[in-house]
Amino acid sequence: TIGIVAIDNYANVAAGTSTNGAKFKIPGRIGDSPIPGSGAYADNSVGGAAATGDGDIMLRFLPSFLAVEEMRRGAMPEEAARVAVNRIADHYPDFMGAVIALTKDGKHGAACHGIPTFPYIVQDNNRETYEIITIKCNH
Ligand code: ASP
Repeated sequence: TIGIVAIDNYANVAAGTSTNGAKFKIPGRIGDSPIPGSGAYADNSVGGAAATGDGDIMLRFLPSFLAVEEMRRGAMPEEAARVAVNRIADHYPDFMGAVIALTKDGKHGAACHGIPTFPYIVQDNNRETYEIITIKCNH
């Protein structure tokens, strides 16, 4: 899955995903990526989040929604993403996945589980510079 969270020049927040789904998926499988709150979620008054990983597990926990709600309560994005990932790991310790999160004022963070590291890219408003950030995961 490619997940994206963006803020436009009018302070609108958007989040979305593009995916080829799971390996060996059965025909008709939907997965988590297109489900609002699971694959991605955005709220102009808070920020946004997007998720990747074992979708059949993750969509039961709406991790993108949870990360946004944690930021609404004042959590920093990394902490918010961690809460969302840990919620899943509490029930499925072997799941693989990651959540990225962005506040409406541009603070970003991510958390991951079940893989060694997870990279995400932060791009500036003019799309002139970008930074690749690689975080360590719980596994
Ligand atoms: N979450 C996707 C799915 O389960 C897969 C992925 O993130 O690569 O459909």
